[in-house]
Amino acid sequence: MIPFLSLKDVTALHGDEINAAVTRVVNSGWYLQGQENEAFESHYAQYIGTKHCIGCANGLDALIWIYRAYIELGMMQPGDEVIVPANTYIASILAITENGLKAVLVEPNPETLELDDSKIEAAITPRTKSILLVHLYGRCAYTEKIGELCQRYRLHLVEDNAQAHGCTYNGRKTGSLAEAAGHSFYPGKNLGALGDGGAVTTDNKELADCIRALANYGSTKKYVFKYCGRNSRLDEIQAAVLDVKLRHLDEDNRMRQEVAAYYYDNINNPLVTLPTRLPDENNVYHLFPILCERRDELQDYLKQNGVQTLIHYPIPPHLQECYKGEWGGMQLPITERLAKQELSLPISQVMKPSEMDSVVRLLNEF
Ligand SMILES: *Cc1c(COP(=O)(O)O)cnc(C)c1O
Repeated sequence: MIPFLSLKDVTALHGDEINAAVTRVVNSGWYLQGQENEAFESHYAQYIGTKHCIGCANGLDALIWIYRAYIELGMMQPGDEVIVPANTYIASILAITENGLKAVLVEPNPETLELDDSKIEAAITPRTKSILLVHLYGRCAYTEKIGELCQRYRLHLVEDNAQAHGCTYNGRKTGSLAEAAGHSFYPGKNLGALGDGGAVTTDNKELADCIRALANYGSTKKYVFKYCGRNSRLDEIQAAVLDVKLRHLDEDNRMRQEVAAYYYDNINNPLVTLPTRLPDENNVYHLFPILCERRDELQDYLKQNGVQTLIHYPIPPHLQECYKGEWGGMQLPITERLAKQELSLPISQVMKPSEMDSVVRLLNEF
């Protein structure tokens, strides 16, 4: 069986260093808000290219805290609108609606699968205050046009960088292109912890200070609470593990890019469409999505022949039961078609050439 992703092998790749880091924290007797967080935050800020990094409990919280901070600082108000791609993972949308903001769904470009920048302007109203740009599947979604629209309409640009650690745009890392970015360290992400974790990166000190307080009960000083925050901290063991994995992130991403290059060069089944190809630095291939009208049949065929695939994502947010009140009856034809046709092939830094070869051979035979 060729697994979609073997986390066991991913951890084993840098296993000795990870074990040493975990043991160091276990033996230190200090498990929260210590030097491991400080070290990782400083290294990650440096890597992304921002002045500040704030560790927090997970990627969803990172995004929630960014919008909550805008509200606390008076830069946004509940009821304001945030433009977001309609085909993203539910967390991007939840971060908006959790804060009493209105998510305005915009369709993706079916050739790139990223937010279609030609459709943004029509969605802007006097209440639009922000764009939440998702670098979906590890591919840079930023365009100059998006930057210009944000300037012209005075919109706060925020990045959801949960799937794109290490991806760049004109030499700058995603996560440093906007006012603030949310990152997830969910185990399966390109930079994954051994449990939950997340972070916010930003150059804005006011925003950074507010987010650091919000993620720690709203506290600015021990036993002094400025905001009604929550307990949303990154623990020391995860910070230590992430610091080890950050040192290997670029080489791990290069291995993903090699798998992707092999897929692009060798998949030639006319029933299968690949997203347009970008230069390597602009795509760190968190996932390798393909499109196929007979997707379910193809997935079964691959499974029967020992290849595990996944669908990202089978039901788009506007058709989820939790948002029935918000978007019941709304139609988004491109997003809905992608949900029916998308299939994610195995890709990771531990995939073997023989496995890549089997996936391509089976796919071309289908
Ligand atoms: C994983 C993910 C998140 C949320 O991260 P968690 O750490 O699981 O909370 C947010 N947005 C996108 C696009 C993701 O893929």
